[in-house]
Amino acid sequence: MAPFHKNPIQHLLHPNHSLTLFDSNTKYVCEGCKTLGIGKRFNCPECDFDLHEYCGTCPMNLSSFLHSYHSLKLVTRMPHGNRQLDRICNVCCDSIEGLFYRCNTCEFDVHPLCTLLPQTLRHVLHEEHPLRLLSFSESRTCVICKGACNAFSWRCRCALCDFDIHMECMLVQCKKQKTWLGISNHIHNINVLIMVELVEELEKLYL
Ligand SMILES: [Zn+2]
Ligand SMILES: [Zn+2]
Ligand SMILES: [Zn+2]
Ligand SMILES: [Zn+2]
Ligand SMILES: [Zn+2]
Ligand SMILES: [Zn+2]
Repeated sequence: MAPFHKNPIQHLLHPNHSLTLFDSNTKYVCEGCKTLGIGKRFNCPECDFDLHEYCGTCPMNLSSFLHSYHSLKLVTRMPHGNRQLDRICNVCCDSIEGLFYRCNTCEFDVHPLCTLLPQTLRHVLHEEHPLRLLSFSESRTCVICKGACNAFSWRCRCALCDFDIHMECMLVQCKKQKTWLGISNHIHNINVLIMVELVEELEKLYL
């Protein structure tokens, strides 16, 4: 369930104007997390400033199954900061700019949108049991890539059947079988958002 928010909102990243929720099929770059978006966004029409709906309202502190040891803090990485190293999202492995969640103790970083991924989901390739999203450090063969891609990435797993699909490989599957997912091709370059939408689409198959 999306957090309840009043509309318009004020946001730290755009202090001079309020932002209103706006729905359009055009793509935009979220000024919060710097990843692409499509559809609903918080927008300042004067400045052409867009935020994902979630990036506009996500909490300063978050407890998530993605990192159950500690709560995560919302922080901002400035575009021209001193840090030379690229920050990588621990869940989707894409780079992080701008707004993200961090556990300082563990140096665990995650995109705000990646925290929307559900802990369990259903997949047509394994209809018997729900799959759990987890980080699994032991190398297991993914049913889609058969070990061809990063064996240490986050995966959806059924422990009962020893069945694994990498998060990235779920996207490959949806490209190949886009008809049953009902997701059109043009939004496939939207990395994080598409993962969230993909799992929502997968869930719909079971309604
Ligand atoms: Zn965003
Ligand atoms: Zn503005
Ligand atoms: Zn991510
Ligand atoms: Zn931690
Ligand atoms: Zn794989
Ligand atoms: Zn199973």
